[in-house]
Amino acid sequence: MRKFLSTMLALVMTLALLVPSAWAGTAPKSNDVVVLYTNDVHCQVDQATDAKDTSKITNIGYAGVAAYKKEMQAQYNNVLLVDAGDHSQGGPIGTLSKGSYLIDIMNETGYDYATLGNHEFDYGMDQLLKVNIPKATFQYLSCNFSDASGNAVTKAYDIKTYNGVKVAFIGISTPESFTKSTPTYFQDKNGNYIYSFAEGNNGQDLYNKVQSTIDAAKAAGATYVVAISHLGTDPASSPWTSKEVIANTTGLNVVLDGHSHSTIASETVNDKNGTAVLLSSTGTKLAAIGKLTMNTTTGAMTTELVTDYATQDAVTMEEIASIEGQFNSQLKQVVAHSDVALTVMTPDGSSRAIRSAETNLGDLCADAYRSELGADIAFVNGGGIRDNIPAGDITYEQIIKVHPFGNMACLVEATGQQIVDALEMSSRAYPNENGGFLQVSGLKYSIDPTVASTVKTSDKGAFISVDGARRVSDVQVLDKTTGTYVPIDLTKTYKLASHNYMLKSGGDGLNMFMNDKVLLDEVKIDNQVLIDYIKDTLNGTVGTEYANLNGQGRITYLNMVMLDQSTLALTVGKTATLTASGHESLLGMAITWTSSDDKVATVDASGVVTAVSAGTAVITASVNGFTATCTVTVTAAAANSSPATGDSGSVVIYTALAVSALLGTGFVVGKKKELF
Ligand SMILES: [Zn+2]
Repeated sequence: MRKFLSTMLALVMTLALLVPSAWAGTAPKSNDVVVLYTNDVHCQVDQATDAKDTSKITNIGYAGVAAYKKEMQAQYNNVLLVDAGDHSQGGPIGTLSKGSYLIDIMNETGYDYATLGNHEFDYGMDQLLKVNIPKATFQYLSCNFSDASGNAVTKAYDIKTYNGVKVAFIGISTPESFTKSTPTYFQDKNGNYIYSFAEGNNGQDLYNKVQSTIDAAKAAGATYVVAISHLGTDPASSPWTSKEVIANTTGLNVVLDGHSHSTIASETVNDKNGTAVLLSSTGTKLAAIGKLTMNTTTGAMTTELVTDYATQDAVTMEEIASIEGQFNSQLKQVVAHSDVALTVMTPDGSSRAIRSAETNLGDLCADAYRSELGADIAFVNGGGIRDNIPAGDITYEQIIKVHPFGNMACLVEATGQQIVDALEMSSRAYPNENGGFLQVSGLKYSIDPTVASTVKTSDKGAFISVDGARRVSDVQVLDKTTGTYVPIDLTKTYKLASHNYMLKSGGDGLNMFMNDKVLLDEVKIDNQVLIDYIKDTLNGTVGTEYANLNGQGRITYLNMVMLDQSTLALTVGKTATLTASGHESLLGMAITWTSSDDKVATVDASGVVTAVSAGTAVITASVNGFTATCTVTVTAAAANSSPATGDSGSVVIYTALAVSALLGTGFVVGKKKELF
């Protein structure tokens, strides 16, 4: 509410300033055509300011776009507002409404045209074709998105007449939509692609499609052709970058581009004939509004970016507030159920565990990535799992609180070596916290904190190498066909699912995957991965397979508790005392001693083992869920033998872990006390 008031105040002030110049109507309006453009807004609905300097507008917001359009309409007779794609996805408001709230908001803002970005496909074809496109009051344009019969799904281009001159606007969507959204959305039930983006022939099909659209527009009388494209300038998008499309066609005058989030105020790229074509793109999240100005008489054209624009249109703000109100009530809606409490904490709830240990919520999140992306293995960083989900009904809001960052799910082809290196990197601080501690699915591994980490990192914290002994061992991968775990093959490649931060951006220093082949690129927002997994795969209920707060035992912690002897031989009637030591993080915690068979050997609260009758028993020392064992073999007492094993000499007992003696790296031993 405070934000609303302050923006209202800003609005009133700015409107007051605008009245004399723009609204008094003294200056005659220009006949130049102004095309305002945005791209890759990714659900940045609201205005945002710099955290340090709140007078600086970092994100203009849709009410700002609406205000700027009105401001331009006060100065120019011909003003158009267009979007170059990726508007309906990127935040919870998109996830929850399957993009439809963004269409409502764009309708209110006053858009005239938009092209389909790859993320417009994220909610499935039914949602796009039956809900989102039909409800748009602006015209979607995409010349190269066609159905199985080769028919364009939306209009390919549209023509406006200004001062008697025709200007064509053509839409182009990236063929990367197949991998940068969910591939199955474009397929029939048998996995055959039933949609096309003119992706074939190493770019030539797309160039031909764009060319034939330009030609059709020219034949319909267009003097100028403006492309609204979601192609991007990233070389990884080759052969479908906007620059390649320009270089391989003729007749375009301007390309207003999106997809690579590039900030390009104005650049010229030569077309196939060597004619300069203007290229511009506004970055992302409404950091800027683009402004193309065309003089239809002289053909003069310029593009520029408008930033730090504070004015907001009051009517649009009100409409957006009402849509956000619906969204907020939807946040409280129950979307799923959990039979069990899901946690990021230690079982006793006293401290955060997710950054140093497996938890059931960690397992669930990792399973969601593995399942939703069809991976062999999935990783989720502990730092990316933020909140507990209590047993009972689950609301959207709770899911979003678990994954609030809006990271995007990706699938890469990683080698076994990269995976074990990532585990070594993620476990380097264990048992201390590390935001990059990996919760895993399709994988099991052991960590031994008595082995000092030999991971070498750069001064930026990025992984360089493992220079010596490894603390991670026994890494096993789930064999999907047999349902059993088999040792990881370091030379084999595995389909690894996680999100863009971990796999593409080197997040948490995990840079080993950055050059891996990307099989699925940013296909779904993280909280939607979790929602979809619970709703679709678990049929809406998290069941008792996730009941154990410590997870399903995918991570084994070696040597957190140790005994001074792993085997013991005693004769009946004799005693010996076991000494436990543990990692310093266990200091002061209670130790529990148990025997597997009290008829063979008993153990008391001080670790004193008493041999009862011939046989074998396993003594377990347990501290905070970590255990160590000693196998005791008891033999019948032989007559006149003395002394029996273990019953003489100096023995020590464990009394408490709260002592100072350090053994090796970070280990303490229980206080020793002479028995005899
Ligand atoms: Zn895109």
